[in-house]
Amino acid sequence: MKGIATSEGYGIGRVMLVTEPNLDFTPKADCDAEHELERYRSAVEKFCIKTEKMAERVKLAASEKEAEIIQGHILMIKDPYMSGEIEKLIEGGQCAESALSSVCDMFAMVFSSTDDELTQQRAADVNDIKNDILSILLGVEEADISDAPENTVLVTKDLTPSMTARINKSNIAGIVTETGGRTSHSAILARAMGIPAVHSVPGAAEKLADGETVIVDGSEGIVIPNPTQKQIDEYTRLRADFIEYRKALSKYIGKETRTADGIKAELAVNIGKPDEANNAIECDGEGIGLFRTEFLFMDRPAQPNEDEQFEAYKKAALIMKGKPVIIRTLDVGGDKGIAYLKMPKEENPFLGFRAIRYCLKNTDLYKTQLRALLRASAYGDIRIMVPFVTCVDEIRAVRAMVSEIMAELDKEGIAYNKDIKIGIMIETAAACIIADILAKESDFFSIGTNDLTQYIMSVDRGNADAAYLYSTYNPAVLRAIKHIISCGHAGGIPVGMCGEAAADLKMIPLLISFGLDEYSVSAASVLATRKAISQWTKKEADNLAEKAISLETDAEVERLLSDSVKR
Ligand code: PEP
Ligand code: MG
Repeated sequence: MKGIATSEGYGIGRVMLVTEPNLDFTPKADCDAEHELERYRSAVEKFCIKTEKMAERVKLAASEKEAEIIQGHILMIKDPYMSGEIEKLIEGGQCAESALSSVCDMFAMVFSSTDDELTQQRAADVNDIKNDILSILLGVEEADISDAPENTVLVTKDLTPSMTARINKSNIAGIVTETGGRTSHSAILARAMGIPAVHSVPGAAEKLADGETVIVDGSEGIVIPNPTQKQIDEYTRLRADFIEYRKALSKYIGKETRTADGIKAELAVNIGKPDEANNAIECDGEGIGLFRTEFLFMDRPAQPNEDEQFEAYKKAALIMKGKPVIIRTLDVGGDKGIAYLKMPKEENPFLGFRAIRYCLKNTDLYKTQLRALLRASAYGDIRIMVPFVTCVDEIRAVRAMVSEIMAELDKEGIAYNKDIKIGIMIETAAACIIADILAKESDFFSIGTNDLTQYIMSVDRGNADAAYLYSTYNPAVLRAIKHIISCGHAGGIPVGMCGEAAADLKMIPLLISFGLDEYSVSAASVLATRKAISQWTKKEADNLAEKAISLETDAEVERLLSDSVKR
């Protein structure tokens, strides 16, 4: 089976199918009340045991507070009023599914119609409880990824960010999905965790059976169901060679990142959780070039409060011991939905109300994040990065909010870095075109090629049918990158890149030639990127770039760059 190679390496293991449970049911009246009551009570019991187990795991992996939120679900369903109402309806002849749904829906409606934000968030909790118990009643429970046994290959239609957040990387041998590509968030996380992955494998979830042995070749984008012994031997050898190759790169640990003729570049790491800063240190990253804070907001019933966020940002800053930590403010929307934020359903979510647009309209949420960031800036070199900017007013609005919060902190006598740098991601066509204007109001740029390619080429980054247009090698994208870097430099600010292209060995000579100052890549790619940068002189890179920029199609560019990669 063929798909898109999204995370290098080779995995051999047993399939775990992860399917979204179908919670549809036909309501029944005049049921046997005793039987339905028994079904309901045993489902609640099972739910409580499962939830208690999950809270235990969360306590170990995250924090006591998050565990308490989960335990709160048990208290809620056991609340005499709520359970009393459900049982009353069952005694009146309704089936367990109907009684549970109508009472939970009623509670959710009451909670969400209050003015108090905390009470409103309880509506999301009630919904979670309802779905969990319904899936038990209907016998369609979702496999628990966090409990997967060793050597599991996850197979799913679409691996959502919240599913990915539950992965225990030491047990997952590979990931196979039916949708998505190299820049899908599940692919980015798979690379960060060093798990081989293949995306966009048509029909994978139907064709692969739970428990069957499968090989995942994340380097070539191949999935082999029921492999022969010969194939298992071959891939076991490939896996050993790959581990050797990774080891050979270790000679680049402790070296500065410089071109062959000595031009210095920064080599930073992309992370999604504060603990991942430890991976950045382990792989000798020189800073954090992108902390995607949306992962702090996912897989939980309500948004993290100011103190929780402060602790998370402070933790990353302390781990990095004074090295730069670029923290991107909440980039929600597009393929990164967060249920409790109740973002409106949109026709075109990638062009709609997302990221900074959402934050500037939800000022309480954004101020909480900016305050947490400013407070954490007292503990290291934290820099704020604004995603998805399309016009200069957006940076001005952020700066105004930051100044307001600084004045508050001054009044409260709370420490923060008064010279904190505020930069922006350049990832929309508009931001690229007006990069000269934006450079005057930003302390730095970071090019998000994952989205920049999408918005320059007008192509959805996850759409398999239009994937032929989604290429960083396209002359339009190359010119955009070159233009952004030169506008940044003309405006006197440094320009980095935190999209996946920064770690693409084919792109690196072009980025050297264009003068990129900072490369921010996944932890697993740091050493290979440092090696590739060290293999080129500026002059060699300029010669190649001159040829590449004169070509007319992405295929020609890719062929030229492919042939030029140094081994
Ligand atoms: C990008 O768009 O290149 C980027 C780094 O951001 P994200 O992948 O999180 O959208
Ligand atoms: Mg982006």
